[in-house]
Amino acid sequence: MINLPPHPLRVLAVPAFKDNYLWLVHDGVNAAVIDPGDSAPILAALAAHQLTLTAILLTHHHADHIGGVPGLLSHAHVPVFGPRNDAIAAVTTPLGEGDLVAVPGLALTLRVLDVPGHTSGHIAYVRETPGAHWLFCGDTLFAGGCGRIFEGTPQQMAASLAKLAALPEDTNVYCAHEYTLANLRFASAVEPGNGQLRERIERDGAKRAAGLATVPSTIGVETATNPFLRYRQPEIVASLVAAGRLDAGAAPLAAFIALREWKNTY
Ligand code: ZN
Ligand code: FE
Repeated sequence: MINLPPHPLRVLAVPAFKDNYLWLVHDGVNAAVIDPGDSAPILAALAAHQLTLTAILLTHHHADHIGGVPGLLSHAHVPVFGPRNDAIAAVTTPLGEGDLVAVPGLALTLRVLDVPGHTSGHIAYVRETPGAHWLFCGDTLFAGGCGRIFEGTPQQMAASLAKLAALPEDTNVYCAHEYTLANLRFASAVEPGNGQLRERIERDGAKRAAGLATVPSTIGVETATNPFLRYRQPEIVASLVAAGRLDAGAAPLAAFIALREWKNTY
């Protein structure tokens, strides 16, 4: 028998519900799932690709990210990694900032970042392999936007996003929802002069029209076009002031808060 080297790691987007992506990382044999909100589509993807589930990783406690855990555990008894500071009963390995996860069954190590804001315990997972930088960020950073601030403070959310923005530009951003076009419509309302944003809207609009995912994006694309990473830009500040949502000369955090509040009702 020849021992074949394992396939390079791949990331599969498994759509669920209306607009969730459940992420399946696999090497052609074993697979880990990030944020399985539902078990049925994951079990179907595992069967279709003849993969064995070896680990479950969670970013935060919301049902559309953990709802599939019991169904997966009844099918395969695997470890469940998740945030130390979000209460999730199924978690067997609680994680926080700086922890390293050697993902069982895969040649994959992920570093954990605390990114509170959307929930108070939200974590993200980063792969730091040169040439294959990945970020699994749940509902913290979205393509063209960010998660709503349900439990944390705007200050925490802004700091969490800044932490993600500081990752290498070529980091793939595997966020958990396909919200991109709606996010970009808002982005262009607050920063109409951004040429890279206009190009992105064309590009991602064409992808959606063809039935394709706009995710993953990259940190480079996000820092160039995502208003929640760009709220210090004079054009965005001017838009907030012109809309009567910000006092001229206000602190950057006030701009971030005004931006998030505007988007909530946009
Ligand atoms: Zn959520
Ligand atoms: Fe979600």
